[in-house]
Amino acid sequence: MSQTEQPAIPSTEADKRHYDLIVVGGGIVGLAAAREALLRSPDQKVAVVEKENDIAQHQSSHNSGVLHAGIYYKPGSLKARLCAAGRQALIEYCDQKGIHYELCGKLIVALDESELPALDDLYERGIANKVPGLEMVGPERIAEIEPYTRGIRAIWSPETGIVEFIAIARAYAGDIRSMGGEIITGHQVKGLATQADGVIVDVHRPVSGHRYTLSAKKVITCAGLHSDRIARSTDTTIRTRIVPFRGDYYAFRPEVRHMVNGLIYPVPDLRFPFLGVHMTRVIGGEVWAGPNAVLAFAREGYRRWDVNLRDLGQVIGFGGFWRMASQYWRMGMLEMYRDYVKAAYVKEIQRYMPEISNADVEIGPSGVRAQALAPTGKMVDDFLMSSDGRITHVLNAPSPAASSSLMIAKVILDDAGYGG
Ligand SMILES: Cc1cc2nc3c(=O)[nH]c(=O)nc-3n(C[C@H](O)[C@H](O)[C@H](O)COP(=O)(O)OP(=O)(O)OC[C@H]3O[C@@H](n4cnc5c(N)ncnc54)[C@H](O)[C@@H]3O)c2cc1C
Repeated sequence: MSQTEQPAIPSTEADKRHYDLIVVGGGIVGLAAAREALLRSPDQKVAVVEKENDIAQHQSSHNSGVLHAGIYYKPGSLKARLCAAGRQALIEYCDQKGIHYELCGKLIVALDESELPALDDLYERGIANKVPGLEMVGPERIAEIEPYTRGIRAIWSPETGIVEFIAIARAYAGDIRSMGGEIITGHQVKGLATQADGVIVDVHRPVSGHRYTLSAKKVITCAGLHSDRIARSTDTTIRTRIVPFRGDYYAFRPEVRHMVNGLIYPVPDLRFPFLGVHMTRVIGGEVWAGPNAVLAFAREGYRRWDVNLRDLGQVIGFGGFWRMASQYWRMGMLEMYRDYVKAAYVKEIQRYMPEISNADVEIGPSGVRAQALAPTGKMVDDFLMSSDGRITHVLNAPSPAASSSLMIAKVILDDAGYGG
């Protein structure tokens, strides 16, 4: 049994189980929400129901581990409001819990004149979002900060950091348990049904084949890659769909890791919520290049050839996907080409770090992003929740949701009617 796995709920007892709040999904967002609920109302009975045998097995443990400072996001958006404050709150939390993090700083590098207007816009956004310590720097300072990186100008964000989000998720889980909450792993929520006095939660335990019902006064769903499915089980008017985008990384070999001190990012295309292939030092000393963004053929498919026909069918059957594809198919094909051809990916790295060669990098880990797409074909840029006061669905919680988790939890609980 894994560290956080809990014994099966006996079916007779399970039918009697009633909670004040059930949170569906034990990723970093669901755990943060359950923790916040217990902080606000310590006497209530709270459970997190997670389908895997351990918490945080999907996005929350398959990411870049960057504690974002809040530069990129449209001023006034939830991302902008929650990221800078979330980073600060998370740093204080890590200090309290003794979780290791490093404020290694980040450079967003312009390679030529054509990128300068976008870099200037980004800098203005960062200032509007009150990101601490932001500076525009020239080639000499770039060379001091990252000697192996070239660029004509860069935004330097000294307060951007790195952390292992799984360590934070585990600490949230520890807080939940110490406040009397339960984390029920290995149980998949199949559906929700609203009743006059609460919500019936239909739970399946795949390992035993048993099906149970739990009930709760309120439910919050934070199901990441499956968030649209679970949300539509109670609200068929929800029109966004999750389209999974895999992000593959290459890992620098040990001999070249010294060539990256912190975080080196390109100037992003702000039409997309992805930040472009970046070089990231991760906790423990490895250096990764990535993630790219390619359409995943399975929501939980971490290998390039993983296919799930139901997942793929839902993407192909969604008009929003084709509207997006008709606009960006060229970019998508190029991204796929770079994904399957290592030399093409390395060429992307070499634009910033010319001394890196094909032999210096090897295949690294992958993650799959849960990105909500509107029927219009537009990717939902901001965090998105919907609530009728009884059931609250988190419909879009992509990056920087891990960095912002303590603050997103507050918004979710406000939406769910828990007051401040
Ligand atoms: C490649 C990549 C890089 C990223 N880099 C960063 C970064 O550097 N910084 C940052 O801040 N953010 C980053 N992110 C984003 C961040 O990881 C996510 O925003 C965050 O982890 C979302 O947390 P979550 O709890 O919503 O989702 P998840 O961690 O995916 O958790 C959802 C949980 O719900 C469970 N679940 C789903 N359906 C059911 C069901 N029916 N019943 C029970 N349980 C269910 C799943 O098993 C899962 O555990 C990155 C993401 C990716 C993919």
